[in-house]
Amino acid sequence: MPIQSFQPPVRTLLGPGPAEVHPRVLAAMSRPTIGHLDPAFVQMMDELKTLLQYAFMTENGMTMAVSAPGSAGMEACFTNLVEPGNKVIICDNGVFAGRMRENVERVGGTAIMVKDDWGRPIDPNKLNETLKANPDTQLVAFVHAETSTGALSDARTLIEIAHEFGALTIVDAVTSAGGSELRVDEWEIDAIYSGSQKCLSSAAGLSPLSMNNLAMERISKRRSKVPSWFLDVNLVTAYWHGGKRRSYHHTAPINNLYGLHEALVMLHQEGLENSWARHRQHHLALKAGLEAMNLRFLVEEPYRLPQLNAIIVPEGIDEAMVRQRLLNEYSIEIGAGLGDLSGKIWRIGLMGYSSNEKNVLFVLTALDEILGSMKAPILKGLAVEAAAAAYS
Ligand SMILES: *Cc1c(COP(=O)(O)O)cnc(C)c1O
Repeated sequence: MPIQSFQPPVRTLLGPGPAEVHPRVLAAMSRPTIGHLDPAFVQMMDELKTLLQYAFMTENGMTMAVSAPGSAGMEACFTNLVEPGNKVIICDNGVFAGRMRENVERVGGTAIMVKDDWGRPIDPNKLNETLKANPDTQLVAFVHAETSTGALSDARTLIEIAHEFGALTIVDAVTSAGGSELRVDEWEIDAIYSGSQKCLSSAAGLSPLSMNNLAMERISKRRSKVPSWFLDVNLVTAYWHGGKRRSYHHTAPINNLYGLHEALVMLHQEGLENSWARHRQHHLALKAGLEAMNLRFLVEEPYRLPQLNAIIVPEGIDEAMVRQRLLNEYSIEIGAGLGDLSGKIWRIGLMGYSSNEKNVLFVLTALDEILGSMKAPILKGLAVEAAAAAYS
């Protein structure tokens, strides 16, 4: 049989990313391809930079999107800012800190891990103590919104502490940008990266990145070359920030960039603060429904991410079976727990375009039916009404 065109099933995406992509963004991506040095494309790229600055609340000149997913934005920050022998403190409260450590060690730095339990926010006191013990630390890195656990950390306070000790900061905002309050300039974040497919609601494959002057100065004073050619920000700048004299670095992912442009136009039309509020509104409705069913959250209330809801699997329930039934019977995707939380939690994402009333009511309906049929210790038939009440 000849291989046919791929026709993906229609899913409701309520996992840890990707989020659903708005039809306007999909339409933008299907527009005609033009050259990445075409004046029309270059004009779009200038707008895209302005839109990225808006999403990050920054005026940093070095604001761009790496042509690869969030992991590449992470790698770009570490490869550019860490030199062999540098000390980097990594606040560790979930999966992504382990990757930060890999990044630091692979470019010859020393990673000092500051551990907090998974599901907890980062404890600023522990960072403070670790900096006191290691005043020669060059960088502090942490995840703002930990997607593996659903915990939000107090970025502003962590940055203040790092700066008291003269360390620069790398902030992972892959899940926070667009979904939670995030102010790059006001909080004085030195280097930040995100991902296109989470609360920014574009297709996967681009990583918004921004660095302030302190970070760029640090990079310009490096004694050794940035060990990655592709991710060296000095070289990418020739394309991203060359104005009318942009020159070839690599072929920009043209149609994907149309999509990010459209997604950010939509974010701008909605308003950043309104987007944060929307994520919170739908989280509160989901919470009302889940709690009416007698399900509980992993993370304590003040630190819960609206865009990533980690729910404790009730005793005796096969969590993988529930996800399988959600997918097979309702075409809903949710996420599993990772690492130590594997088998213990579900992760319901309400990110970007996925964060809406229809999806909240739909996933509650589906969970109520599936968990009820599995004889889980839940209160059946109350969730949707509770969520609807939260909306009215
Ligand atoms: C998803 C995610 C990443 C990695 O992004 P990819 O686009 O999957 O490479 C990094 N950090 C956090 C917090 C994430 O949620």
